[in-house]
Amino acid sequence: LDPAWLRDACRCPRCVDPYSGQKTFDTGDIPAGLRCRRAQGAGGAGTVTLEWENDVPGFGEDHRTELPIVELRTALRENGDPRGGIPRRADRPAHWDKDELLKSDLWHSYEGYMSDDGALLKLLAQLQRYGIVFLKDVPPSADAVSDIATRIGPLKETFYGRTWDVKSIPKAENVAYTSQYLGFHMDLLYFIQPPFLQLLHTLKAEATGGASIFADSFRAVNSIRRSKHALWLALNTVPVKHHYDHENHKYEHSRPTVELDGRARDIAYVNYSPPFQAPFVRAKPGWNLASYHAAIAEFKRIIELEHNRFEYRMQEGDCVIFNNRRVLHGRAAFKEDGERWLRGAYVDEDDFISKRKVLMAK
Ligand SMILES: [Zn+2]
Repeated sequence: LDPAWLRDACRCPRCVDPYSGQKTFDTGDIPAGLRCRRAQGAGGAGTVTLEWENDVPGFGEDHRTELPIVELRTALRENGDPRGGIPRRADRPAHWDKDELLKSDLWHSYEGYMSDDGALLKLLAQLQRYGIVFLKDVPPSADAVSDIATRIGPLKETFYGRTWDVKSIPKAENVAYTSQYLGFHMDLLYFIQPPFLQLLHTLKAEATGGASIFADSFRAVNSIRRSKHALWLALNTVPVKHHYDHENHKYEHSRPTVELDGRARDIAYVNYSPPFQAPFVRAKPGWNLASYHAAIAEFKRIIELEHNRFEYRMQEGDCVIFNNRRVLHGRAAFKEDGERWLRGAYVDEDDFISKRKVLMAK
């Protein structure tokens, strides 16, 4: 290990303020000529004590850096997930199809979710693993979705509002407000940071039809990864632009359909929202659409297979929570013969990760 790395990691009360937890010196303050004068392991305590030559200005001979060996091991194993994931085997996403999802017991009571941290932690673990969970017996209040979301973290407010309604109203700009079939998509991919969790609470389900449909995009791209390498490459290299271009709101962002995490092994996000797709941008000389076109056609074929689609007609008092960067959602057509009202909200990924870590540490 680099001496500068070890010195930088010092957690002594002079280097890290015991109250604020903030570092008191800058990495840039460490002299280039820093050397470790002496290193001593204190077996029982599981720490190593380091003494320095040419230490950071202001730190004298008496400064000691004590590092827990466990922490050094973790640092050596760090594999660079920039999101600081929770390294547990059970955390790897479980790719699902319809049957898997039905077997997985993803239904939770609103009461338990709101009052019991253990129930909340279990739900968050399932969200990590499957990307989707359901609450039942949610009170018929327009505020309920906000109460549910803020159990996890602050609402992510967007130009749709702090929370937003999905109702059938004529002449809307957004196809979500019509009664026609709404194909698989994800929300707000034209943002630099699209929402991570999406919540949808059903307040009125009097209209005929209108079942929700969900599919696991990770499962679909993973099957392409295993069997069709050229298509897989196209999915994680060709940028696809999404946009929202209206008089008062102008957003656009390009990203590949599949984004990998820091280790380039695991799938971090899938981006797929055909209704908001913009014309392709010619990214590089020699760029052509052919391989991407074949790849996205294969992706579409897979997500729409009967056994991959989970279809469920939300009842009044149901609330679905899903990972908008993984789980595709859509809706069957419905008749405008009764009231249909869902209220939605978003929560960012940072707050989801933080809440899980807090509850896991308890
Ligand atoms: Zn120190």
